[in-house]
Amino acid sequence: MIRSLLLLTILFVSLFGCSHPKENRDVLFQTSTINALLEGVYDGNTTFKELKEHGDFGIGTFNGLDGEMIGLENKFYQIKADGKVYPVDDGMKTSFAMVTFFEPDKTVLLDKSMDCKQMEQYVDNLLLTQNIFYAVRIEGDFTYIKTRSVPRQNKPYLRLVEVVKSQPTFEFHNVKGTIGGFWLPDYMKGINVPGYHFHFITDNKKAGGHLLDCKVKDVRIEIDYTPSFYIILPGQGEFYKTDLTRGKQKELERVEK
Ligand code: ZN
Repeated sequence: MIRSLLLLTILFVSLFGCSHPKENRDVLFQTSTINALLEGVYDGNTTFKELKEHGDFGIGTFNGLDGEMIGLENKFYQIKADGKVYPVDDGMKTSFAMVTFFEPDKTVLLDKSMDCKQMEQYVDNLLLTQNIFYAVRIEGDFTYIKTRSVPRQNKPYLRLVEVVKSQPTFEFHNVKGTIGGFWLPDYMKGINVPGYHFHFITDNKKAGGHLLDCKVKDVRIEIDYTPSFYIILPGQGEFYKTDLTRGKQKELERVEK
């Protein structure tokens, strides 16, 4: 009896006790908040080494708002205001970024010509519910892509709505590449960007930016359902002194669209 009880205990421990809980890879990991970025909190708070521990796919910006970031397959890229793509090393910092481990739950091939709005409506219909987070990756041939980047800022920092008034934009015709980003629920207002937020990079990794407009030709759409959320806020500094109580929907529209 005692022996069988002991055996049972050993079995129980080996089954449940000693194994680590399965790592949750369906987490949207975010640093800082969109409203802090809108207010000009551009000091980097998280290194890319840290960021990579939480995801291999994502978008964001850099310390000092030095360009647009896109991460695909654990490689992170910096698209600066000159329109060129630079490699990102682990020691660099981000002031606002979101990542996840990209493992698609749904894949759809789309070979119809659609503009960005139509493509977004098409993806809307692929979402399970409006109440969780999604990472979205769209890879293939595009008839048209329009992106922008943002120039590195020096202190005292201008608010983001002022910076984007002189943002450089870039246009591409008949280009291969990848759109990467997220769809987030409306209740994320103030924390992140509700709806779609996409960045783009060409297949040859030579150009890209924050997506402003597009026309898809023949693409593969992949969606990763992401029902968990983890945020790290900047410690001290400007973040602690900034008024984050005001709603900024109009500014967000001007900055992101
Ligand atoms: Zn962006």
